[in-house]
Amino acid sequence: MELIDGNQIAAAIVAELKAEVAALAGRPPCIALVRVGNDPASMSYVKKKEMTAKEIGLTSRVILPPVTITQDELFALLDELNADPTVDGILVQSPLPKHIDEVAVFRRVSPDKDVDGFNTVNLGKVAQEDATGFVACTPAGIMELLARSGVNLKGKHVVVLGRSLIVGKPIALLAVQKQPGANATVTICHSATADLPSITRQADVLIAAIGRAEFVTADMVKPGAVVIDVGINRVADPTKKSGYRLTGDVHFPTVSMLASKITPVPGGVGPMTVAMLMKNTMKAYRQARAH
Ligand code: NDP
Repeated sequence: MELIDGNQIAAAIVAELKAEVAALAGRPPCIALVRVGNDPASMSYVKKKEMTAKEIGLTSRVILPPVTITQDELFALLDELNADPTVDGILVQSPLPKHIDEVAVFRRVSPDKDVDGFNTVNLGKVAQEDATGFVACTPAGIMELLARSGVNLKGKHVVVLGRSLIVGKPIALLAVQKQPGANATVTICHSATADLPSITRQADVLIAAIGRAEFVTADMVKPGAVVIDVGINRVADPTKKSGYRLTGDVHFPTVSMLASKITPVPGGVGPMTVAMLMKNTMKAYRQARAH
């Protein structure tokens, strides 16, 4: 079994971007990070994004509206950032408070600055195989992990567990694209799928994104399969100071015994998501200048 080391691959991407930024003339690319309220997970994600931007040499502008911000006020803030020529990319950290329609917010971000890839236009461009679009960071990170680990999806059966707009649907669309490295046969499973194990056992590449701790067990995996674990779940662990540990959607101890390659949690897909956000910001900057 080979461990797919997301930390190492993400560090390589960060180093590449750092070199690219160092070679730029003029102002560096700028990402606006909007975090509504003080959700602890969001605070740590935005901090990590800010630190990675700094390491690469990108400028970040962190905006922290209170949890009471109305949808209209948030729209007004996004309109300002959309119109600001010194901002190249905009990220609105999810989850947003319940009184705000998250999808409406994703739509409000200008498609040209939508480095998170959740705007309708950018999701559409994935379907149309239009390379000018921004691919959502987690699925883009998974494709990069596979490519840099020497996994070519051509002709392979990829089974995706989960159909969210953030992971499941876009990764399925990317894997099925008629493009080098992709070109797979794809099956998407969800909570209404009948006899799930009989489908997952057919997977040459199994991508688990359901948010259920250690759901995928060895009996659901074909020996020699490549397993990508997207899940980030907190499970109670009294031996840890925090009282919990992080685990994926895959039961790593048993599945790693039969997989040919597998991502760990943490240290697999997670670090790639941040690296791809930075890569998208660089792309937005370059595309804005090419117009
Ligand atoms: P969602 O909750 O939005 O979607 C979960 C999907 O899994 C749904 O399609 C749901 O089906 C399906 N599902 C849930 N339970 C089952 C089941 N028992 N059998 C089959 N299908 C099931 O999750 P996300 O896609 O946003 O996230 C998935 C996981 O990935 C989470 O643990 C999240 O924390 C993690 N994540 C990690 C990221 C990273 O950077 N590494 C980034 C984003 C997410 P249905 O549609 O029928 O409800």
